[in-house]
Amino acid sequence: MTVMALSFLILSGVKNNQIRQNETYLTEQGVIAGNYIKQMYLMESVKDPEVFVKERGTELVKRFEMLTQMQVVLYDMNGEEVADSIPLAAKTDIKELLHYALKDINTYTLEGDTMIFLAPLHNSGKQIGVVQFNYSIQKDRLFYEKLEQLFWYAGIFIFISCFLCGYFYINPITKGILNLKHTAQRIEEGDYSDIKPLKRRDELGDLSRNIYYMGNRIKNQLEEMKAEQDNLKMAVEKLEILGVQQKQFIGNVTHEFKTPLTVIKAYADLMNLYQDDPKLLEEAKGNIDTEISKLTTMIDQVLTLSALENYNFEFHPEQIALDLVMKEICDRLMSKAKQHNITLHMELDQITILADKERMSQVFINLIDNAIKYNKEEGHIWVSLNENMGEACIQIKDTGIGIPEEARDKIFTPFYTVNKAYPGSTGLGLALVWELVKKQGGRIELLENPEEGTLFEIRYPL
Ligand code: ADP
Repeated sequence: MTVMALSFLILSGVKNNQIRQNETYLTEQGVIAGNYIKQMYLMESVKDPEVFVKERGTELVKRFEMLTQMQVVLYDMNGEEVADSIPLAAKTDIKELLHYALKDINTYTLEGDTMIFLAPLHNSGKQIGVVQFNYSIQKDRLFYEKLEQLFWYAGIFIFISCFLCGYFYINPITKGILNLKHTAQRIEEGDYSDIKPLKRRDELGDLSRNIYYMGNRIKNQLEEMKAEQDNLKMAVEKLEILGVQQKQFIGNVTHEFKTPLTVIKAYADLMNLYQDDPKLLEEAKGNIDTEISKLTTMIDQVLTLSALENYNFEFHPEQIALDLVMKEICDRLMSKAKQHNITLHMELDQITILADKERMSQVFINLIDNAIKYNKEEGHIWVSLNENMGEACIQIKDTGIGIPEEARDKIFTPFYTVNKAYPGSTGLGLALVWELVKKQGGRIELLENPEEGTLFEIRYPL
């Protein structure tokens, strides 16, 4: 459209310019013709210039034709044709033009490729007739047509170029923008799969890369948030379980503490009642002692357990020769084992680990003590220590009563005992062992014992 408007303006400018140039040229020719007549007339003896034009008209038009290379026609002041340089040429109706020319006005009309121009003739400031020039404007027309054709070609060329430009340049940009629009839509819908940046090196490419990174960041942040949410959920569930466990624990503590206290109270009452019965007094004293020591152990265990579970229990890790620690404990418990005719076997490799010696000893004392307590007369206990898969592996096996299948899962729960009536049973020892082992980076397992009895395995990182 720009080319069209421009072409139209230029072409109409060219046309106007051509007409103006022709007008100027033919006006000048009219003045020259007037001057020529004046010179000729002055040289002749004819008095009236109008009469001179009439008498010498034919000669004058011939001369003008020769000078201007145009068909020339002369008219007198009555509008009568005086002479025509080409008399046989077809005549055009110029009455109206002549009417204006006789009033001293330059006029013209276009007849095909000819410009019929009428200019007034003057002599000493007075109009003496009209001269008509038939000027060929064929050259101008051809030039104009050539120019017009050129504009057509330029217009078509520019149109095709713009189309191709649009197709090969703007089309991919539009496609890119559409692609970005769909990507943004997918991100909005929370679908982060298949987000790819555009392979472009321009601003659109930058934008798509930014959208791609933004999408990935949103995705990661959402995933992190989801993970945090899951963690929180788990923590809340854990807290709820802990709450229930704590309630149970308090309930158990109250119950377990009441039993020995009731026994102590009963014996104390008996002692008051039968102060003169030395046998009963002796028996009551013995039982009170047993219950008090049971109570003391229980208090000690409960406090340690609660400290381990509820706040950071202080450990003092040091390099300890595990075999020596275990040997010392076995030696200490050897006499107790012998009382029950139980044989203690040791198979200890030399292994050093980083651990709290006292807490470690507590673990072994509990386990070996249980192995003695729940063993049979003339039973056996095997205590072994060796290195296995980069860990210190400790096994304590006995030939005792064993742990029934249904109790295996609950064995490490505080206050759980297989048989409540068993003397000295508190159900706290294994719970304490579990916490002490776990807190020091190890793990304890109750293994299936192919033979009779129980088999515990503890593993510590070396
Ligand atoms: P406690 O021995 O004071 O009852 P523990 O927590 O040490 O408490 O043990 C929990 C229960 O596990 C015991 O009551 C007992 O029934 C069972 N148990 C533990 N060790 C053995 C073992 N070596 N052989 C058989 N039963 C055992």
